[in-house]
Amino acid sequence: MSKAVYSIVVPLYNEQEVLPTSYARLKAVLETLDGPYELIFVNDGSKDKTLEMAKELCEKDKTLRLISFARNFGHQAAITAGMNAAEGDAIVVIDADLQDPPEVILDMVKKWKEGYDVVYGKREKRDGESAFKLVTAKAFYRILKSLTDVDIPVDTGDFRLLDKKVNEALKTLPERNRYVRGLVSWVGFKQTGVFFHRQERAAGETKYTLKKMLKLAGDGIVSFSSSPLKLGAPLGIGVCGLSALGFILYLVLSLVGGYFALNTALLFAILFVSGLILTVFGITGLYFARLYDEVKGRPMYIIGEKVNFD
Ligand code: UDP
Ligand code: MG
Repeated sequence: MSKAVYSIVVPLYNEQEVLPTSYARLKAVLETLDGPYELIFVNDGSKDKTLEMAKELCEKDKTLRLISFARNFGHQAAITAGMNAAEGDAIVVIDADLQDPPEVILDMVKKWKEGYDVVYGKREKRDGESAFKLVTAKAFYRILKSLTDVDIPVDTGDFRLLDKKVNEALKTLPERNRYVRGLVSWVGFKQTGVFFHRQERAAGETKYTLKKMLKLAGDGIVSFSSSPLKLGAPLGIGVCGLSALGFILYLVLSLVGGYFALNTALLFAILFVSGLILTVFGITGLYFARLYDEVKGRPMYIIGEKVNFD
């Protein structure tokens, strides 16, 4: 097999329902590329037949390489492992469920040939997604944008093409709680987007549970903004100022002789301040937990086995 020009990285977690269709459609598109390619499947600790099915495909197809994790380490770890193993000059990350249409890869390649180093897929329309997911995703991308100085494009997932040099730059970033799409923006280079219509999942259910979505959102914000951490000081000063004003007001009112329910007022004041303290502590905790995780220095993933890597 001659050295690949294109590397296509596909993370897989319990994707037995879509794997055959997905593989066939990806192959059909990859065959139309103008150079040799490698397809890298990363099995992220699937509990169904994904691993067996991927291994079977590997026997027949030597352009298909497989990395299999020792357990489920998450989508971001899976795409990172694939990107670390990729040998191509252009590396494309794409979901297994055909929500990202493989045909868009050809548009990305066209832009890459025009000289762009990063071509990301921008979702202009999303099919078959719950109202909750649509609203929270839209809000999240905008909140993150308002909180950070890094120019992270909105409504953009990890479906993208990276030039080899961008991938090499990403490999030098040691952080483990990765928000890959943010890191890609952070490294810079010449970036552009192609719009695409995000399809409904070809089969199976979403593998992004609410917990995984919250982890990703948390990593995105904590890695790319320290604004929440800086919220405490102004909030505290504001509450102190307001309490002082309230106290003066109370004094004036009692002097004038009007009725004032001190107990109730006090209760609300205490609840308010306690809530505030908890909030600020909570935010600090988010950063602390992450810091602790990074300091432990554990690898981001453990590979159980590899197939078709010589
Ligand atoms: N995925 C993964 N590990 C996980 C969860 C998801 O490798 O822990 C993969 C999954 O197989 C798919 C991609 O990440 O290829 C995106 O997941 P999914 O389509 O379930 O997310 P959604 O599109 O619903 O946000
Ligand atoms: Mg999906």
